[in-house]
Amino acid sequence: MKIILIILAVVLCVSALALASDNFQYVSFDDVRRAVAGVFFVDSITEGELKEAYAKALRGEGKVKILIVPGHDDVSWGTEYNGIREADLTMRVGEALSAQFVKNPAYEAVLLRDRNGHLPAFEKYFTEHIDAVRAEVVAKKSIMKDLLAAGSVERLEGVQHNKAALGVALRLYAINQWANENNFQLVLHLHFNDFGGRTARNMHQYNGFALYVPDGQYSNAKASYAVGEALFAEFSSMFQKSNLPKEDAGIVPDQSLIAVGAYNTLNAASVLIEYAYIYEAPLRTPAGRKEAIERFADTTFRGVEQFFK
Ligand SMILES: [Zn+2]
Repeated sequence: MKIILIILAVVLCVSALALASDNFQYVSFDDVRRAVAGVFFVDSITEGELKEAYAKALRGEGKVKILIVPGHDDVSWGTEYNGIREADLTMRVGEALSAQFVKNPAYEAVLLRDRNGHLPAFEKYFTEHIDAVRAEVVAKKSIMKDLLAAGSVERLEGVQHNKAALGVALRLYAINQWANENNFQLVLHLHFNDFGGRTARNMHQYNGFALYVPDGQYSNAKASYAVGEALFAEFSSMFQKSNLPKEDAGIVPDQSLIAVGAYNTLNAASVLIEYAYIYEAPLRTPAGRKEAIERFADTTFRGVEQFFK
């Protein structure tokens, strides 16, 4: 009962905000549904909805909208090994992956960053909506804080990650909000892994891929996990999973990664793929990298296909 009251209160607040905004002359059912999505304890997307969207797309009714986000950028390029920057690797996997999605017209895959930089439509959104994004995050954080205090949501410690710098964090939240507003159904974040305190001597202790999904308490959790399972089946037939403690689960739920919807900020299903540790052998030579990048893109595409089919 208490939970229902909280949901009702949140729904009412969100609707009231929507009504108060200048952009809303009236609130349609779709607007309410969108406002309700991303609310705790209410699924923002389901496995069934995703599969139905795919079946419809095959009949020529719409497309399955997929957002591909190559991790990091030229300003903040993630990790680095021997002059090879993570942002460049993720961009190249992203380009190869988006070329794969073109093969099946059921998908509309959008690549957020390529060799020319960020997608201009997103850049424009980010510049124009930065204050709105900040306000939305503050609101979502305060809802989560209340739910934690009430004991309705449980704080869970996952794998330790570097905390994103403020500007980077805002950009990630803006991606979530842009994905929500543009009705993306699946978001794939592409990354390469590393660990704190790596030295030339200890660096081979960790290797392998990992798939991060939203914490089970978030609205996009179940659908994301289902996509994660399909990806895991493909990945584990090709590569070794990570041996880092907690990450060795293969599919790793996480409460604090913005990419998969920290504070319940993302409606779409989302999986963050750590393809490999950046110093792993195949990535060290130009030829090895080229081949590995193709294999990573290929495996990702097959995993997504596996899910929808
Ligand atoms: Zn990364």
